[in-house]
Amino acid sequence: MQALSSQKIACPYCGENISVLIDCSVPDQEYIEDCQVCCRPIDFNVSVDEDGVPNVFVCGEND
Ligand SMILES: [Zn+2]
Repeated sequence: MQALSSQKIACPYCGENISVLIDCSVPDQEYIEDCQVCCRPIDFNVSVDEDGVPNVFVCGEND
């Protein structure tokens, strides 16, 4: 099983599609990563299902 999975998400701020690497060995994750395009902090919520497929949800922080 591949531990790292490349996923595409849409930035909640600028709407650009960016690729992120998800560590599928951790079933539940929440972290903040800056957008590669507009550099604003994106809130990531990741849940990995039984088959090792990550579900990625992103949202922006409110000022
Ligand atoms: Zn962005």
